[in-house]
Amino acid sequence: MKNIVVIGAGTMGNGIAHVFAMKDYKVSLVDISKEALERAVATITKNLDRMVSKEKISEQDKVNTLANLETFTDLAAVAPHADLIVEAATENIDLKLKIFKQISDVAGKNTILATNTSSISITKIASVTNRPDKVIGMHFMNPVPVMKLVEVIRGYATSDEVTKTIMELSKKLGKVPTEVNDYPGFIANRILMPMINEAIYSLYESVAGVEEIDTVMKLGMAHPMGPLQLADFIGLDVCLSIMKVLHDGFGNPKYAPCPLLVNMVTAGYLGRKSGEGFYKYTTGSKETTVSTMFK
Ligand code: NAD
Repeated sequence: MKNIVVIGAGTMGNGIAHVFAMKDYKVSLVDISKEALERAVATITKNLDRMVSKEKISEQDKVNTLANLETFTDLAAVAPHADLIVEAATENIDLKLKIFKQISDVAGKNTILATNTSSISITKIASVTNRPDKVIGMHFMNPVPVMKLVEVIRGYATSDEVTKTIMELSKKLGKVPTEVNDYPGFIANRILMPMINEAIYSLYESVAGVEEIDTVMKLGMAHPMGPLQLADFIGLDVCLSIMKVLHDGFGNPKYAPCPLLVNMVTAGYLGRKSGEGFYKYTTGSKETTVSTMFK
């Protein structure tokens, strides 16, 4: 395995491209947006610079990593040469089905097709391709260069051989892969999101304030970040869409998204990316304050 195509150059795509390029794979990073590709290369360069300054890698490692990376806007031009395609485009089922249909038509017949989806069914994605046995979930965590876990998700038809290849490849990237089966939310989000939703319910029912809830979970459970701050970091729209996947997928009311979460997303309070969620974020500053909505 040598040639890797990464589709989507956003938050996750640039991190995935970074870790493959650093391990000497040839990476073609593809996005429909030229600006996203430029931002991705700037982010990767900045992250590599930080690693050089912390003496985690040498200047030569940085040069080699960047030399392994090329950017494209035309997926059809690079997909035929890929050994592995990792899709990390926007979390939207129709978009992902369209992309997988397209890549399964143009990629070589042995190319493995992986998706970094947080919650969409791997089995559903595989069903629109001509190779469901070679479609697999490769769920990296954010920020990709730092976080060790890769949740490797087997669709209903994913073969043992493909699963083994992706488990081994993840180890070569310096990650710890964990194999799970394809049910709503997989493992990571099936456990994380109801916890975040319950934290939002606790706020909604005035059991405690934003800081109090986060402090209990940080100091009491040794979580590095409280659930409300983590929700802001992930994006409240993303949290809501994953809760809907759990709710629809299991049909169990325990997964109903908290009405406060629904209201915040409807009002455009999406967390860090929109400047305000449970906390308020000021551009260029690391200082955060609890949103005045909750004071
Ligand atoms: P993002 O919005 O930062 O980036 C998505 C990118 O996909 C954008 O640059 C967009 O231009 C591009 N794109 C859209 N349509 C495309 C197409 N047809 N072809 C090529 N590129 C296209 O999103 P993200 O946060 O990086 O999430 C990407 C995937 O990773 C999603 O499936 C998400 O669920 C998953 N994920 C996200 C996180 C996270 O913390 N953000 C964590 C784990 C998994």
